[in-house]
Amino acid sequence: MNLSIIIPVKDEEENIFKIVKEIKESLSDINYEIIFIDDGSIDNTFNNIEKACKNDKKIKMLSFSRNFGKDAAIYAGLKASSGNYTAIIDGDLQQDPKLLKEMYNFLSENAEYDQIAMVIRKRKYTFFLKRIFSNLFYKIINKMSYIGFASNASDFRMFRKNVKEAILSLPEKRRFTKGIFNWIGFNTYYKEYDVLKRKSGKTKFSLRKSYKYAINGIVSYSEKPLVLSAYFGIFISTASFIYLFYIVFKTLFFGKDTPGFATIVCLILFIGGIQLISIGILGKYISELFIESKQRPIYILKKQIGFEKEEL
Ligand code: UDP
Ligand code: MG
Repeated sequence: MNLSIIIPVKDEEENIFKIVKEIKESLSDINYEIIFIDDGSIDNTFNNIEKACKNDKKIKMLSFSRNFGKDAAIYAGLKASSGNYTAIIDGDLQQDPKLLKEMYNFLSENAEYDQIAMVIRKRKYTFFLKRIFSNLFYKIINKMSYIGFASNASDFRMFRKNVKEAILSLPEKRRFTKGIFNWIGFNTYYKEYDVLKRKSGKTKFSLRKSYKYAINGIVSYSEKPLVLSAYFGIFISTASFIYLFYIVFKTLFFGKDTPGFATIVCLILFIGGIQLISIGILGKYISELFIESKQRPIYILKKQIGFEKEEL
């Protein structure tokens, strides 16, 4: 097998046959397999993939028992794949399958690169607020994290076996794939591409879900928020110490007592707020520890089609 194409799908019933057709047309001279991961779809996605599998032995499917998220789907696909090269592509045709051929040729011709990652040239079809937050996310995470995140690099990429094995060697349960790609290193070639319009269906990443995803990413790849409260503490302690000297000095030498009700209320609220924020940040890290410590599986399989191995 030369190339495994991993396609995570959640409710993409109308896109299944279209993407299969496009891949077939553009990769006719390559020995490839398509692995669909049905991530708990509630429409006809499962049935359509099943039909596609019957028509073409190159097409395989893993179906989850419920929605486990795109990152879990990518992990399952990688584990089941057997190609020398592996590609990840969205199932909604926003990432042009025709580019797979170009990516394949690039890796074949450039032995020094282990991976080609596609970078979004301009987010044309994204809600403007999501676009702003996305840019902000990359700014923040690059400031805070100990690894560099390439701005707007998507999960649309192709890599060699060594990269795949590195990704699979990371055991974490809550997988932030964007971070994993950067953490493992390797020689990556970044190439710009134009995002296409979604063929049908709608985005699965609402503003709220994207926000949660971003926060998880920051918590997974940076310890800085934890240290932040210490900095706040140092700042407030120093400021209050100086203020204390000022008050003592003033009372001793001028003997004048100033009424400070408003000041006291403001200070109590300010410090209380900062304490709650710090506890909240701490809580977020502890909850991540809690989730990881349960050692639950990353996904649960309901059905698999087209694989030789019995249990994946
Ligand atoms: N997806 C998935 N599980 C999810 C959410 C999304 O497998 O829980 C798939 C989805 O079907 C699509 C890809 O991940 O093939 C990218 O999702 P989407 O197009 O909704 O994201 P966007 O392009 O809007 O960022
Ligand atoms: Mg999309």
